[in-house]
Amino acid sequence: MAHNVTLIPGDGIGPEVADAAARALDATGVKINWERVELNADVIQKKGEVLPNEVMDSLNRTHTGLKGPVTTPVAGGFPSVNVALRKRLDLFANVRPVRSLPGVKTRFEDLKLDMVIFRENTEDLYSGLEHEVVKDVVTSLKVITRVASMRIAHYAFNYAKATNRRKVSAVHKANIMKLADGLFLRCCREVAAQHPEIRYEELIVDNASMQLVMRPETFDILLLPNLYGDIISDLCAGLVGGLGIVPGANMGESHAVFEAVHGSAPDIAGKGVANPTALMLSGVMMLIHLKEMEAAARLRDAIEAVYATHVTTTRDVGGAAGTKEFTDAVIAAMK
Ligand code: NAD
Repeated sequence: MAHNVTLIPGDGIGPEVADAAARALDATGVKINWERVELNADVIQKKGEVLPNEVMDSLNRTHTGLKGPVTTPVAGGFPSVNVALRKRLDLFANVRPVRSLPGVKTRFEDLKLDMVIFRENTEDLYSGLEHEVVKDVVTSLKVITRVASMRIAHYAFNYAKATNRRKVSAVHKANIMKLADGLFLRCCREVAAQHPEIRYEELIVDNASMQLVMRPETFDILLLPNLYGDIISDLCAGLVGGLGIVPGANMGESHAVFEAVHGSAPDIAGKGVANPTALMLSGVMMLIHLKEMEAAARLRDAIEAVYATHVTTTRDVGGAAGTKEFTDAVIAAMK
């Protein structure tokens, strides 16, 4: 059976890594009908809306997306397309597996890291509720609800149970934000109590950041509200070799959009050097979601095989290959 998937290349390095990931996914032999839709600053400005109808119509047909990054203007301009999409489709769980890849030189080469981040994806300081009270005085609302906190906590614990994980670490700042992060923590505790077989711990976000750098191997599943989840994701990417290799999934009840942790990387866009691994591994997550287990394993094994030889990896992970050469090597390594 063919799968219908919306391909959103995005901008910056997005089109380069999206084409590479789509090629690698096609090479698995799984039949995918790609519905390619454009979503970038030009389209947004032309259409005058952050999420044009073509994009939403396609995702509402396919219910599955593979998405490259989209640039968000800093300190002004249109709001984040990425945040808007997660909210509009109620993609409440942002799942980001952080795993060491063979042969990648990092400061933690002696450790095999394997953790999964569960970031609440719809609220917190990403509510977009900012207000200039009077000139030079701004408030930005942090919204935490029981519904969203329970959903992400259930999602993380259910995943932990299904995959035989041993520990969930909830990350918070409830010593300062007693009400907001306090509510998030109470929800985590409530769900943890339903899973006595899984160890549960709580860490204040500043301490969690230090522990992650000092003892990353002690972490298993991280459960965080939106902003801490965003920041800690990049920190964790740094532990295993950078943003070029960490995938992600935005999961909702009816839709799923797979995208890397990284952004549009304007510093290397258009140079043919971007690492497509993160989006390819997001594609592996998508294949699992589509119940194409064998193809998912084949693509993941091919990526790992290329890293193990370390001949054709991209320069962000110490190699010298470009996006295309790396993609060709992955396809050639596919059994
Ligand atoms: P970034 O993730 O784009 O880049 C950070 C650094 O990592 C850069 O040095 C970049 O070259 C490198 N890098 C990232 N991905 C790489 C890859 N695949 N291969 C090799 N090197 C890679 O972060 P930024 O520069 O802070 O953000 C740029 C833009 O991306 C901003 O507009 C931001 O809002 C947007 N952004 C979008 C998303 C998304 O679409 N989901 C996520 C994060 C940031």
